[in-house]
Amino acid sequence: MLERTDLPERVDIKDVSPRDGLQAEPKVLSIDERVRLVDSLTAVGVPHIEVTSFVSPKWLPQMAGAEEVMSRIERKPGVTYAVLVPNPKGAERALSTQPDELTVFVSASETHNYKNVHRSISESLAGFHRIGEMARGEGVPVTAVIVTSFGCPYEGRVPVNAVLDLAVRLESMGIADITLGDTVGVANPLQVAEMVHAFAMNAPTIRLGLHFHDNRGTALANLLAGVISGCTRFETALGGIGGSPFSPGAGGNLATEDAVYCLQEMGVKTGIDLDRLLGVTKRLEGAIGHNVPSRLYKAGGRMVPVGIEGTFNE
Ligand code: ZN
Repeated sequence: MLERTDLPERVDIKDVSPRDGLQAEPKVLSIDERVRLVDSLTAVGVPHIEVTSFVSPKWLPQMAGAEEVMSRIERKPGVTYAVLVPNPKGAERALSTQPDELTVFVSASETHNYKNVHRSISESLAGFHRIGEMARGEGVPVTAVIVTSFGCPYEGRVPVNAVLDLAVRLESMGIADITLGDTVGVANPLQVAEMVHAFAMNAPTIRLGLHFHDNRGTALANLLAGVISGCTRFETALGGIGGSPFSPGAGGNLATEDAVYCLQEMGVKTGIDLDRLLGVTKRLEGAIGHNVPSRLYKAGGRMVPVGIEGTFNE
């Protein structure tokens, strides 16, 4: 039986909608709209935000003007503003904007890494060495995401040990803050629990985060499995938008609203004002021009207590 004491007091939610979300949208949002999204997330209490990525605008026009976005957002003390970098060149651009955190990414499977960034895993790690040196020089911490950690569209199920070994290699390079991404949304709750336990047993100094996609409807169940297993750091996206444009069939991220609703209804704090967050979802929907997948948003938010009389017609 699940009891309140099985759950943590608080979890850290990192909203990745301004990057992971918007980069998958066909419509390119203006710099103004992207800045407003980040500022709105800050205003409703999101403690950790992935603001943008420093990829070439040739590849991802959705992320063009990353420097300007970073210079115009209003930074609130206590909030972590992270940016994604694909290579040392991107890191150089990113570091000029004084981010709180640089995030690098690598796939758990060779085929996906090659298709995604045209490099082997070892070549990616060599690039991280250089990025680590540059970031250390500026006093900026580096975090990593291991994508396809729970399954690869080309290689299938990824063994726990392959993910663990890669994470340990990253930690030996000074990157101990590692998020496992279920890039194509194939993970199940038991697999998540086994992964979190394997990390706790074999690499307890790694600060583990989880990032789920909802292609097959398992994302929220996977988050709960992660929480019960002791993980307290999760990446979600407002509205449930996003998913990698480079992963065939990749679907939306777990919606921040849905995760926050589930956690807060169980008494787990996130620091996020859910009602006001839904106002931000409404504006996001207007900006991207289509409905978002978030279930809570569709349901109209939390259940409002109704009057006794005349409500439940039999
Ligand atoms: Zn994602």
